[in-house]
Amino acid sequence: MKASQLFIPTLREVPSEAEIISHRLMLRGGFVRKLAAGVYSYLPLGLRVHQKIANIVREEMNAIGGQELFMPVLVPKELLDESGRSSVDVLFPLKDKNQRDFFLGFTHEEVVTDIVRSYVTSWKQLPLTLYQIQTKFRDEARPRGGLIRGREFTMKDSYSFDFDEEGLDRSFQSHRAAYERIFVRCGLEYLVIDADSGAIGGSQSNEFMVLAESGEDTVLLCDSCGYAANAEKAGIGRVESRESGVVSRESRVEGTGQPTVGAVAVQSKIQNPKSKTVSTPGAHTVAQVCEFLSVDPTQLIKTIIVTAGGTPRGTPVAALVRGDRELNLAKLAAFLQMGPVEMADAVVVQRVTGAPVGFAGPVGLTGVRIVADYELQGTSDLVVGANENDAHRVGVTPEVDFAVSDWADIRVAIAGDPCVQAGCTGHYTEAHGIEVGHIFKLGTKYSRDMKAQVQLETGENRDVIMGCYGLGISRTMASAIEAHHDADGIIWPAGIAPFEAVIIPVNMKDEAQCSAATTLYADLQSRGVEALLDDRDERSGVKFKDADLIGYPVKIVIGRGLAEGNVEVGLRRDKSSTEAVPVAEAAAHIATLVNRLKT
Ligand code: ATP
Ligand code: MG
Repeated sequence: MKASQLFIPTLREVPSEAEIISHRLMLRGGFVRKLAAGVYSYLPLGLRVHQKIANIVREEMNAIGGQELFMPVLVPKELLDESGRSSVDVLFPLKDKNQRDFFLGFTHEEVVTDIVRSYVTSWKQLPLTLYQIQTKFRDEARPRGGLIRGREFTMKDSYSFDFDEEGLDRSFQSHRAAYERIFVRCGLEYLVIDADSGAIGGSQSNEFMVLAESGEDTVLLCDSCGYAANAEKAGIGRVESRESGVVSRESRVEGTGQPTVGAVAVQSKIQNPKSKTVSTPGAHTVAQVCEFLSVDPTQLIKTIIVTAGGTPRGTPVAALVRGDRELNLAKLAAFLQMGPVEMADAVVVQRVTGAPVGFAGPVGLTGVRIVADYELQGTSDLVVGANENDAHRVGVTPEVDFAVSDWADIRVAIAGDPCVQAGCTGHYTEAHGIEVGHIFKLGTKYSRDMKAQVQLETGENRDVIMGCYGLGISRTMASAIEAHHDADGIIWPAGIAPFEAVIIPVNMKDEAQCSAATTLYADLQSRGVEALLDDRDERSGVKFKDADLIGYPVKIVIGRGLAEGNVEVGLRRDKSSTEAVPVAEAAAHIATLVNRLKT
C-alpha cells in the first residue's frame, strides 16, 4: 500500500478528552474517530489492526473445532425473559413499529441456546462449539479509555455444549489453551487469573488480564506460589491469632463450612460489663464514629444488612466486617448459596434493626443470620451500632455480647493479605489489569431455564452443559498499545501491526531513492511482507515522526547510504538496532526479520 493513497489522518494535538495512552495514540495516529461516548469509527489503519486480531482469533477458534456463525444484533425481549436477563442494566432497549420490544445484543447465551435447543436432541450431536465475532452493545455506566470500555465494541463470543462434566472440562481447557495462543500471537503478556463466577454460579471462571497501570481491575498476586486472582474473587488464607501470641495459619478450602441455610444467631446470655450503649449524635459513617469516640477503624465492626435471594423479597442477613474493610458481596453470595446478594434498602434496614441506616449492630439483633468475617474471630472491646438512632455500643466482644451464626471469608482481599492456596505462606501483592478475555463454565443455567436438553445413551434426558467464552477484540487492540508504546508513539507487536514495515525514501525528488524504494516495496510484497511505501511529498522529519507515532515494527530508510548501495533497516522497539543493509539483500533480510518478530 502506498501512503499517498491511504487515509491516515494523524493529529498533532492530543485530544483533551483522551485520558489513557492507548486512546490518545489511537486518535493521534488516525486509527479511530469518536462519534459519541463509547462509540467509535475504525479508520483504515485501525480496521487493519482490528481485522488482524479477529483473524488470529478465528484461526485459533477453528483450530479447537469451533464453528463460526453469525447471530442477530436484534434480540427479542421474550428470549431474555426466559433466562431472567431482560432487566440487566447495560441493555440498550428499542421498539419496532408494532411496539414490540427488542434489545441490542450484549452477549448471546440466549440466542445460541435457542438455536441449539431447536436442532440438537441427542448426545451424539455433541460436543459442539459455536462462535461469532460481532459488535456488542452495552450501555456502560462509564464508557472510558476509547476502545477499552466502549458502548459498542467487538467481541468474539463462543459457546460450548456438552452432555457431561468431563466434556465441559475439555471444552474449557481447549478454550483456555486457544486464548493463550491468541494473546501470544497478539504480542501480549497476560495473566490467567481466578475470577468471580457472578450470580450465574458457574463452577469455574478465569480471566485473561493484561497488566497495565490504567487497568480498571485489581489483580492480587501471591508473592510465593504465583496464584493470581481478581480482587473481587481472591480468597484470604486464614491467620488465627491465639492468646499465646502464636500465629497459626490454615487455608480455607473452597466450599467447606457451608452453613445450614436459614440458621439464625441465638443471642448470648453472658453479660459483658464493658459493653454499653453511648450516644453518638449524627455519627453514622465509620469515619464520623471513629472521630467521635476517638477510636481507630480497626476497633469498629461494620454491620451491613444485605438481602439474599433478590430484592425486595430476599432474606435479610447481617454481614460483619472490621471497620477498615470492605464487604465482598460476591463472596458472601457464594457462601450463602441463596442467590444474588444485594445491599438492603433503608426500609429493610429500619425493619430489621429498628434504626436508620448507619446504626446497625449485632448486639440484640434477632431474627437474622449474622455472618462475620474470619478476621473478627478472637477480637474484643469493639464499637458496633446500637440499633438505635444516634447511638453506638462500645466494649463489645463477638461470641460474648452476640452470637455469630457463621464465620466466613467475606471481605475484599487487599495487598498484604495471606494467600488462600492450601499450604502456601505467601502474601498478595497488587497490580492493575485490563480484562481481555473471560472463560466461564456455565453449567446448566441457560439450558435449564430455556429447556435445551439432549437424550443420553441411556435414554434419559438431561440439560445440556454449557461454557461461554468472551474475548474483546477492540479491547485487545487498545491493551496492546497500553502494553507497547513509548514517548514517540505506538510499538505494534508484529502479529497485529497495521503494516509490518514502512519504507521511507528520504528525498522524494531523488530519483535513485524513489526507484530503489519502489523496487524494494514490490520485492517485499512478493515475499508476503505487508509493507507501506511512504511516498508522500512530505519532509522526511514528518515521515519519521508519523512512522514512530503509528508504530510499524520495521522501518526502512532509503537516503544518503544509497550512494554506497545501502538502505537503513531498524526496529521500532529498539532504535539502536538500525543497521545498513545492501540494497540487493534488503528484501530477504527484512522478510526474515518480520517473520522472526511474529514468532
Ligand atoms: P467488564 O468487567 O470489563 O465490564 P465483563 O466482565 O462485563 O467486562 P464479559 O461479559 O466477560 O465482560 O465480556 C467478555 C469480554 O468482552 C471481556 O473480557 C472484554 O474483553 C470484552 N468487553 C466487555 N465489555 C466491554 C466493553 N464495554 N468494551 C470493550 N470490551 C468489552
Ligand atoms: Mg468478565
